[in-house]
Amino acid sequence: MAAQDLLLAERIDQVRQAVGAARRQGRIVGCVPTMGALHAGHGRLIERARQDCGLVAVTIFVNPTQFGPNEDFTRYPRTLEADLALCREAGADLVFHPAPGAIYPPHFQTTVDVADVSVPLEGTFRPGHFRGVATVVLKLLNIVQPDRAYFGRKDYQQLQVIRRMCRDLDLPVEIVPCETVRESDGLAMSSRNRYLSPDERRRALSLSQSLDMARRHLLAGETDLSALREAMRTPLRAADAQVDYATIADPETLTELTAPQPEMVALVAARIGTTRLIDNLLIELPSP
Ligand code: AMP
Repeated sequence: MAAQDLLLAERIDQVRQAVGAARRQGRIVGCVPTMGALHAGHGRLIERARQDCGLVAVTIFVNPTQFGPNEDFTRYPRTLEADLALCREAGADLVFHPAPGAIYPPHFQTTVDVADVSVPLEGTFRPGHFRGVATVVLKLLNIVQPDRAYFGRKDYQQLQVIRRMCRDLDLPVEIVPCETVRESDGLAMSSRNRYLSPDERRRALSLSQSLDMARRHLLAGETDLSALREAMRTPLRAADAQVDYATIADPETLTELTAPQPEMVALVAARIGTTRLIDNLLIELPSP
């Protein structure tokens, strides 16, 4: 089947017009916010939105405010032509690709801070990151005004921050979480994987190995979570990864756990060479 026409919008009013027309036809509007450099993980989000919605809008915006001063904002991959092809293939109707000035005009001064859930883990290692994320996601949701917005579990803490923000601010949008898409050997797909050399690509497998180890130990009845946190670092150290964290947390609040509970999330962040990668795994203990 031929892919449908894809509208590329660079201005907010173009998005409002397209979404308004879809709404008048009674179509459900879905939104998939991204930073581009799209891969099959993003593709899955778009396909999922296509199944549920009558209009699928993908946003592609490398948001400067969620990068720290020493992070990879300037070298973040920008691959618009390939991204548009992937969006078309996955069934998107509209791509919103604004210039930075359209999102942050002169004198911009309002930001969104989600307390507690933004604080640990990524919040500690990337100060200000979630302020940038929450602010831009709120803006994108206000621009598109979707019924449903699709986010990957790959960025687990981000998903919880966005859910919290939407509940707290009464946004009329359903947040739909989508499973992490992995390469066949287990590496979570990420736009940053393209920075990895072949040797680093092999070493990057240590993140998913660390998470698998956590799951195996917990399912086998491990109760000493500090010992488990230490064990999770073993594959990472063996791969010469610089570990930011490797831990077990509550899946909603992201606070570190001191004892196992029925639902947990294992999370890791580590640098392989100069590339910082994150991954996570939800772990459910069978009820006794
Ligand atoms: P990004 O472009 O990295 O900001 O990601 C845009 C959206 O795609 C976020 O909701 C991510 O969680 C999601 N995403 C990124 N990688 C994956 C993946 N491997 N599997 C599922 N979703 C993903």
